Amino acid sequence: MPSAKYIFVTGGVTSSLGKGIISSSLGKLLQSRGYSVTIQKFDPYINIDPGTLNPYEHGECYVTDDGAETDLDLGHYERFLNIPTTQANNITTGRIYHNVITKERQGAFLGKTVQVVPHITDEIKRNCLLLGQTGKYDIVITEIGGCVGDIEALPFLEAVRQMRWELGHNETLVIHLTLLPYLNASKELKTKPTQHSVKQLSEAGISPDILVCRTEHPIPSDMRKKIALFCNVNVNCVIESIDAETIYDVPLLMRKEKLDERVLGKLKLAHKTEPDISSWKYFLGKLKNPTSEVTIALVGKYVELPDAYKSIVESFIHAGAMNECKVNILWVHSEKLDKESINLHFGTVDAILVAPGFGERGFQGKLDAVKHARENNIPFFGICLGMQCAVVEFARNVLKLKNAASTEMDKSSSYPVIDLMESQKDVTQKGGTMRLGAYPCNLKKGSKANSIYGKIKITERHRHRYEFNNKFLTQFEKAGMIASGINPETKLVEIIEIKNHPYFVGVQFHPELKSTVLNPHPLFVEFVKAAITYSKNKK
Ligand code: GLN
Repeated sequence: MPSAKYIFVTGGVTSSLGKGIISSSLGKLLQSRGYSVTIQKFDPYINIDPGTLNPYEHGECYVTDDGAETDLDLGHYERFLNIPTTQANNITTGRIYHNVITKERQGAFLGKTVQVVPHITDEIKRNCLLLGQTGKYDIVITEIGGCVGDIEALPFLEAVRQMRWELGHNETLVIHLTLLPYLNASKELKTKPTQHSVKQLSEAGISPDILVCRTEHPIPSDMRKKIALFCNVNVNCVIESIDAETIYDVPLLMRKEKLDERVLGKLKLAHKTEPDISSWKYFLGKLKNPTSEVTIALVGKYVELPDAYKSIVESFIHAGAMNECKVNILWVHSEKLDKESINLHFGTVDAILVAPGFGERGFQGKLDAVKHARENNIPFFGICLGMQCAVVEFARNVLKLKNAASTEMDKSSSYPVIDLMESQKDVTQKGGTMRLGAYPCNLKKGSKANSIYGKIKITERHRHRYEFNNKFLTQFEKAGMIASGINPETKLVEIIEIKNHPYFVGVQFHPELKSTVLNPHPLFVEFVKAAITYSKNKK
């Protein structure tokens, strides 16, 4: 079995330059040439995974099929490559140390002092090679989180240096992403920060093969030469990454700059065919030529940081393109919603989505949003906590169960219509203990969910502790809110819908985690379609 080739993507000058998008775009191009590619992220923080982090700290927590709570970049990897990632695709410093310390306690290093080099670096390398050794991939792209020069990044860079030395330069490649700041006063791009960051990388024993330079303006050819000269790379390996209208343009921009060709050349891989990106271009064509426009309210409590809802935003882009519709998101802070201001907030919207979340803060606002959507026949989509809100609202206002609640918010409610799952009752640890990952779900024949998916058996990804309380199911169904998706083994209610409403769907899972450019999620596609219909009828 031929071994995989390893590409490392590092970043310098500042964080947030978009290493995830560059890695995904390169992965897409290589995949389009017939190579099988996976992308992995190393995160230099001490948390074992981002599951325990506040969304304000780290944006959305992305969940894989195998139940790993991961960095949001994994969402980009899946959306671009259209293949699922796993726990092995996201490794933090915390997990590396945890593994090494566990082995130490088991006696694996008896007699030895356990050190960053070689024990931590060996564990980093092992995690990198693991993906390559599955035999499933020709190319493993590993994104190193953070910035060159960060204290935390050092063991990862040292592991990269060692892997290059051990495997050789034809088997490994380093792409360094930097920034060329533009000085408005002198109207010029500056290369010095890039030079410094390459120097910093070389202090760690790594010389990059390719530089991808983020820039607001085209890089003149003499500047490319200058960067090449000072940074020890071929001039054709200075790749311009100009600000794009959408992240989905980046694969095409990278193709134009021949990033994929340079990579294949350096790794001594055959060019095979020209990349087949026709379906990608078809998507972009639809995305950029909308024939309609809708505004959808996204109600949540982390709206100050749209990254907290990254996959939802991207799902709307995919579903919008599919409908040739521009979807504008109106960010609505659930804490600022109340009965008085509701018309003001929702006066212009064509649909309302109530987002996932945790805890009491902003809960009442979400209930008010659901009520407004239900009573005014505005398309409604509730995701996870959003679905639970729909259930509580229905219990209070339709079933007239006074103070019905989720026990997450009110432990003493007489009508706990959302309750802690049985499997969660003995859980005391916080990290990695929710109901996580993909679970099967059977759809009720003839339901809206059934017609949207076009099948009966689905699997979707979860991340929650609370669930619909089945003791109340008959009462709900009699009044018109039906359970249209049920877990075949546990009988947990995974989807609810209201029959006499243009689109009122709540899902306990996270459909946004499975929407990709090539496979927009059907629930989002239909929700946008319902918003378009609502908007037309309004006029
Ligand atoms: N807080 C709710 C639960 O744990 C919903 C979680 C979510 O929205 N991801 O069940």
